Amino acid sequence: MYFKSLYKIIIVLNLSFNLFSQNPLTKIFLHLGNCEDKFVCYFNKNPQIKLLSKKDNNQKIELLFFLPEIIINEEVDNLINKINSTKSNYYKIFILKEHGGLKIKFIYDPAFVYKIEVSEFDAISSFKGIVFTILHKKIVHEKPNLNFLNFKPKILIDIGHGGHDCGAKGSCNVTEKEITYSIGKKLQKLLEKNGFNVFLTRDNDKFVGLDERTYFANFLPAAIFISLHANFSQNKNASGIETFYADHSLLNSYNFEDQKKYLIRQKNNLLDENNKLVANIIHQSVYEEAKKINPDLIDRKVKRSVSQVLLGTEMTSILIELGFLSNSKECLLLSDPKYQQSLANGIFNGIKIYFNQLN
Ligand SMILES: [Zn+2]
Repeated sequence: MYFKSLYKIIIVLNLSFNLFSQNPLTKIFLHLGNCEDKFVCYFNKNPQIKLLSKKDNNQKIELLFFLPEIIINEEVDNLINKINSTKSNYYKIFILKEHGGLKIKFIYDPAFVYKIEVSEFDAISSFKGIVFTILHKKIVHEKPNLNFLNFKPKILIDIGHGGHDCGAKGSCNVTEKEITYSIGKKLQKLLEKNGFNVFLTRDNDKFVGLDERTYFANFLPAAIFISLHANFSQNKNASGIETFYADHSLLNSYNFEDQKKYLIRQKNNLLDENNKLVANIIHQSVYEEAKKINPDLIDRKVKRSVSQVLLGTEMTSILIELGFLSNSKECLLLSDPKYQQSLANGIFNGIKIYFNQLN
């Protein structure tokens, strides 16, 4: 009897420990680019990752990673199938669900792929990410092209969310996808009227995946990528504008070859510096313009990030959170066409200042 109940306790403890230690894989994407492709996995908490094996027979290199305690839902299952069936002449990714974890296998041709780098990062809204960067050999040593002066730069407005993905739901009966669309269209009009070459990641209410947005940006290719969003917080008083820029130094690379140096931080590059410059110019401009209508507007400042669309684009990229839909006052403002126009004016002025500086 005693042993029986002890046994039961052990089983219960073991079960609850498993539930506690399980880590849901929330999203995965394969961002394709000209210089590198990025295979990204988002988790609820920092996952463990082990390199199980590396086989090298000159023509093909095979890397096998294992991430224990990972659980997968149906939505992610569909994303896995999409990536498993993605065709590339240079490499193949196999995502295998194993009992108690996830196996990720890469097979690549070293004549075309320079190497695969594994890094971890903190994503926006407290998720943890692991990114496998597949560096293309042909252009791995080239610097990013910031010279837009010889041609009419393509400006890509990334209108956040769409279709079944409504984004944040406002306290005043409006959704984030409607707000980003209205402001994006106003910004497009302004830019086109002033001779800019403008593109949108969506021009109607349809769902566009983050990987599709970055693919469009990289192969357009856009000179500048501006992602429009509206914020949400459990704290109803939270308000203000904040701007994120892509900073790749936030990626902590794993060094599997040298166990002592478990994580190494990657170096800053030219593109990150430019992202910071553009973010500061546009943020300042949009804040000042919006403050004319909303004098209490809070400046939540410019912040660094390397997640979601900002991880997958190869050009100067920023993401602006234009206000909080969870704040009743700001929700009404964001729904007001006059305030939307002032936000669009602010972004437009910032873009103009940036390109004038380049000239
Ligand atoms: Zn959003």
